[in-house]
Amino acid sequence: MAVQEFISPTSLSEAQQVVGDGAASSWLAGGTDLLVGIRLGARDPARVIDLKQIPELTAIEIDETSVRIGAAASAFDVLHNSDVPSLFPGLAEALNLIGSTQITGRCSAGGNLCNASPAADSIPALIANGAQCRILGPDGERTLAVEDFVVGPNQNALASDELLVELILPRPAVGTSDAYLRLTPRTEMDIAVAGAGVSITVDESGICTAARVAIGAVAPTALLVEAAAQAVVGSQLDQAAIDGAVAAARAAATPISDKRGTAEYRTHVVGVLVSRAIANAQARITEARS
Ligand SMILES: Cc1cc2nc3c(=O)[nH]c(=O)nc-3n(C[C@H](O)[C@H](O)[C@H](O)COP(=O)(O)OP(=O)(O)OC[C@H]3O[C@@H](n4cnc5c(N)ncnc54)[C@H](O)[C@@H]3O)c2cc1C
Repeated sequence: MAVQEFISPTSLSEAQQVVGDGAASSWLAGGTDLLVGIRLGARDPARVIDLKQIPELTAIEIDETSVRIGAAASAFDVLHNSDVPSLFPGLAEALNLIGSTQITGRCSAGGNLCNASPAADSIPALIANGAQCRILGPDGERTLAVEDFVVGPNQNALASDELLVELILPRPAVGTSDAYLRLTPRTEMDIAVAGAGVSITVDESGICTAARVAIGAVAPTALLVEAAAQAVVGSQLDQAAIDGAVAAARAAATPISDKRGTAEYRTHVVGVLVSRAIANAQARITEARS
């Protein structure tokens, strides 16, 4: 069956009303996953509900405590926001890697997250930054950490009548920065063999006081690796501490072998990426202080 209906609500309440009758519907943000899925026959919604005309879903708002990125805000708009790339350079790195200029012009971090690919680039960066999902459904709102939002390959925690409204990132504390790195077999237009998102906080004496380490493409979902963070917190980010984080990330990885790389290769690579992402975040903190 082809798509029967295309609806473009202009408010959250209208979107909820539309989905309330239970007809098989798909939310459409940028469409860079959904439309490909429909063309390939992997997705077959009777109704497509466009999200780009709902102001809350495309807004990017920054206050003293948090940064709120509307679920359908395009990667382009996030990357060209006056503050987000400098507050979260690692998240910007991840969004900038999605597809191509054409893809980043349409796609959203919300769509990347809801599509729930194990190799999705923005998810480790969002987890590293402690992002929360604001979800709206017929019974009201709920909030879920990004690391709990994806429940399996291409499966998220939303009920069919729920909508991801926005991603809420706490503003980074003083002395905090992030970084995201991935490895792909080709330099462009390919998906990650492994990815690593890291956020660290370093005090004036060089001690790491907080860390979050997330890995992607090496398990059914992106993972928050608490043991990797524990390995570096309290250290001067010396080689022994970094080696501990690398070992913890490799121990958490449960990758598959496929045409992009063997499980052994992915496990090795994810450790290298964690080490380099920590170094990149540390260098950003040092540079900001100099
Ligand atoms: C050529 C090409 C290259 C690509 N390269 C990469 C890459 O390098 N890295 C990468 O990670 N991805 C890549 N992708 C995949 C895709 O571009 C990303 O996953 C993108 O971020 C999806 O965002 P979107 O807004 O287009 O999502 P859509 O296609 O609009 O939606 C994706 C899914 O999420 C659902 N959805 C969307 N928004 C919401 C919401 N607010 N609430 C509930 N459900 C929602 C949709 O119903 C759909 O199931 C690529 C795709 C293409 C076509």
